[in-house]
Amino acid sequence: MSPTEHSTGHRVVIVGSGFGGLTAAQTLGKAGVDVTLIARTSHHLFQPMLYQVATGIIAEGEIAPTTRLVLKKYKSVKVELGEVEKIDLERKVIVSRLLERVTETPYDSLILAAGAGQSYFGNDHFAEYAPGLKTIDDALELRGRILGAFEQAELSDDPAEREKLLTFVVIGAGATGVEMAGQIAELAHKTLKGAFNNIDPTKSRIILMDGASAVLPPYGEKLGKKAAAELERAGVEIQLNAMVVDLDYDGVVVKDKDGSTRRIESQCKVWSAGVAASPLGKQLAEQTDVEIDRAGRVLVSEDLSIPGHPNVFAVGDMAFVKGVPGVAQGAIQGGRYAAQCVIDSINGQTPDQRKPFSYWDKGSLATVARYGAVAKIPIPKTNKTLEFSGFLAWLGWLLVHLVFLVGFRNRLAALASWTLSFVTYSRSQLTVTEQQVYARDAINRVDRFADGSDSSDSAEKSETSSSKDQAS
Ligand SMILES: Cc1cc2nc3c(=O)[nH]c(=O)nc-3n(C[C@H](O)[C@H](O)[C@H](O)COP(=O)(O)OP(=O)(O)OC[C@H]3O[C@@H](n4cnc5c(N)ncnc54)[C@H](O)[C@@H]3O)c2cc1C
Repeated sequence: MSPTEHSTGHRVVIVGSGFGGLTAAQTLGKAGVDVTLIARTSHHLFQPMLYQVATGIIAEGEIAPTTRLVLKKYKSVKVELGEVEKIDLERKVIVSRLLERVTETPYDSLILAAGAGQSYFGNDHFAEYAPGLKTIDDALELRGRILGAFEQAELSDDPAEREKLLTFVVIGAGATGVEMAGQIAELAHKTLKGAFNNIDPTKSRIILMDGASAVLPPYGEKLGKKAAAELERAGVEIQLNAMVVDLDYDGVVVKDKDGSTRRIESQCKVWSAGVAASPLGKQLAEQTDVEIDRAGRVLVSEDLSIPGHPNVFAVGDMAFVKGVPGVAQGAIQGGRYAAQCVIDSINGQTPDQRKPFSYWDKGSLATVARYGAVAKIPIPKTNKTLEFSGFLAWLGWLLVHLVFLVGFRNRLAALASWTLSFVTYSRSQLTVTEQQVYARDAINRVDRFADGSDSSDSAEKSETSSSKDQAS
């Protein structure tokens, strides 16, 4: 189908405006196919740079353009805000909700790209004390918690309390954990140096811990060690083979390799240890023979469709495809492939004529500290990879992220913020509002009251914990 052709009568619904959903919508929009994209946020989020929002380098708008504006030029694409609550494969209908308004959207083809959330491995109560980093709300709340800890320490006369407030624990030494720990260290040791009267932020402890024995395991031993050395130079304390077994408001309980447990007093904790795919995958498994893995990812066919449902696709982080990592490129390429399958079937191709999805691994990059990153790039047509670290890798990270950031203005703004931060150590986005820090707690309480699960006792507890937040 050519981009100039118009409505085909074939209705496509896409769930999610992340990398997978947005790419699918752009591909179908270019071909003039009727699309309704439903997502629970009105923005597309560039998750790889969330840690920079959390640590005050860039503003949230720079990595979260409004989806309907990004897709405005595709006249056949509609964007709807709503939380998808139900996939009805039999009736071919998607049920979504915006506040009290429930919408049913029929489809002929469906592309699910609902991504993944944080996993606390069955300890969901950890979330209250150690937020993850998946959304803008998460990033702004973490920014508030990090900066709030310094402010509270400034007012404390108690050395033990000060130490607790100036101890930051990042749990999970994958790319997100490494980036967060590196940036909290830079904030403490450089940006905030000399800004307080009673405390010395450079005395802060920033601990990066993981139950595994290496930093950045997917990058291999050599790059993992380089990243660890770089982090230590930046002032991060690395604790490996250290499993977090409990968490509360004031600290973490850690189990070491020898089986012994210890406690670290720390008010500000960040969780970057695990992901769980969208629960929509479970709905598919309940309605079809498709399986989901332990992380809740849908085990799709080789054309990314659901077995027995050739026009229903799952792509990106919510799908499991052997050899495809849970990264932006996996979702982008999956979204584009599924959209092309839909276009081809509108043009008469049958599902058995589809070529299997094949993933092009373009490599991985992770920043560690200022001017420091690690890179692992496969060499085409060989089994070898090019591995390098340091300034060159950091420059590569910068360029790749600028290219993939959606929107020229956002690229320009991010470049300006980076230049400011890298050259002068200053950060222009250190604003924190009360709502950013307390809203989630308040919303949870309202929800508990609304569904009647909040007894006066738990309401009281919640009040106490919130007052403690406010007071401390
Ligand atoms: C902090 C962080 C750092 C990362 N760093 C990198 C990196 O450096 N390089 C890299 O390649 N990858 C990185 N990733 C991974 C990468 O961002 C993901 O692999 C990618 O976003 C997956 O795309 P997706 O489209 O599958 O899901 P997402 O981008 O997560 O999009 C999911 C979409 O679905 C919507 N949604 C979910 N549930 C519903 C529902 N029920 N109803 C309606 N809408 C719904 C969401 O609002 C969202 O729009 C990082 C991820 C995180 C969290």
